[in-house]
Amino acid sequence: MSDFDFDLFVIGAGSGGVRAARLASGHGNKVAVAEEFRVGGTCVIRGCVPKKLMVYASRFSHEIKEAAGFGWTIEKSSFSWEKFIANKDREIDRLNGLYVANLTRAGVEIINSRAEIAGNNRIYLRTQDRYVTAKRILVATGGLPRKTEGLAGAEYMITSNEVFHLDNKPEGVVVVGGGYIAVEFASIFAGMNVETTLLYRGEEILRGFDGDVRAMLHQEMEKKGVRIICEDTISNISKVGDILEVETTQGQNIKVEQVLSAIGRVPYTEGLGLETVNVDCQKNGAIIVNEWSMTSVQDIYAVGDVTDRANLTPVAIREGAAFVETVYNNNPTSVSYENIPTAVFSQPEIGTVGLGEEDAVAKFDNVDVYRAEFRPMKHTLSGSNERMLMKMIVNADSDLILGIHILGADAGELIQALGITLIMGATKAHYDATMAVHPTAAEELVTLKQPSWIYRNGVKQTNA
Ligand code: FAD
Repeated sequence: MSDFDFDLFVIGAGSGGVRAARLASGHGNKVAVAEEFRVGGTCVIRGCVPKKLMVYASRFSHEIKEAAGFGWTIEKSSFSWEKFIANKDREIDRLNGLYVANLTRAGVEIINSRAEIAGNNRIYLRTQDRYVTAKRILVATGGLPRKTEGLAGAEYMITSNEVFHLDNKPEGVVVVGGGYIAVEFASIFAGMNVETTLLYRGEEILRGFDGDVRAMLHQEMEKKGVRIICEDTISNISKVGDILEVETTQGQNIKVEQVLSAIGRVPYTEGLGLETVNVDCQKNGAIIVNEWSMTSVQDIYAVGDVTDRANLTPVAIREGAAFVETVYNNNPTSVSYENIPTAVFSQPEIGTVGLGEEDAVAKFDNVDVYRAEFRPMKHTLSGSNERMLMKMIVNADSDLILGIHILGADAGELIQALGITLIMGATKAHYDATMAVHPTAAEELVTLKQPSWIYRNGVKQTNA
């Protein structure tokens, strides 16, 4: 043990911080983790987990309707927001308890306080008004919902922080934004029979995803009752009684109970004291780190959303583990950000790994695009007109698969397994050689015969 109170002080008990704290303690270090809100962080308390529970809750409205085609008569269904929220909160409490128990069992000291860097190796515990010292500091403070600046009535908007605890299910909601959190919540609300408008200032939702997937999700969400308005923004929100009146720059006037702002997230570094020791940050506040998560200051490291690399839970966990392996196991380990499989829990769901068509073509001269769009078997009887999309992008020179994009049921589950094949360097020939599983939707992926279109020297040729 050194002259410090702790060998490692972790700021933030979210996905990255908890993993790092537990593993570092396992290497025989004296470790503390400070948390200003609730142990578990964004993912467990107000992100992935409660959101997925809401996704499940909202899907039943579609499934109940679809059951009729299979002979079921469901006399009368109703949804209790209060009951669902209480059940969801009980599950979040259970997970929070598990995280606390696991940290404690690993010998990590949990400090329920906001922590700020107060100098070299020095941390100020603001909530407890005391200082501690540590040989190393790991910043894992995550991100925050981006604030809307300069909008009259912005104070009436909620963010993903509040959406999990609304007292009542709103009758109508406007969701602002076009990223994955915005489309997920628009789908959730629509599934809960809330009149839902998605308002996005860009040309099309889900910037950065494959263009086909974006356009088709747009269509499919509209079929499920989400009104999507692109290239428009809110110009004013006023409140009359319990109703919010939303005016947009394109002249829309929408009356709803809630306006959810989901316009992105920013790294949570404000007030963290980084400037006291000169930790270099990007313009948006993200801490700059090298491949081993080291900051510009010796003995200060950062992992997870606060570094704005790939803002996902499994990535934060990997970065936390790689930090410990590098620093406490003398085995320099970095995280690969290529071919990260991800899901968007919109309705229908998206699973994606690798390059979208546009990115693939920007990078490679010769690209083959395989595309299958079809009605999934379930919907031959369900009465739903939902369609499914599977798309494979292949490097025509090497036959290597550059990307796979799926829109439809269980896309998230599928893409987890398909992601492994990309990491292994799968080619189109590997997929062709794989026997189909029948009858499934996924069999389409191993029966894609001819490219739907190709690019040669960057030029699209549709008569492939
Ligand atoms: P966090 O999990 O955010 O943890 C940071 C912790 O630090 C927080 O608990 C915070 O309270 C604490 N903290 C901050 N500052 C201080 C301080 N000064 N002192 C003490 N404590 C502090 N990712 C996925 O992979 N899949 C999904 O489906 C998904 N869905 C999401 C849905 C929503 C609505 C949101 C908001 C996020 C979602 N994410 C999802 C992203 C995921 O939650 C984050 O990428 C992940 O939580 C990042 O982990 P982290 O350790 O960097 O930070």
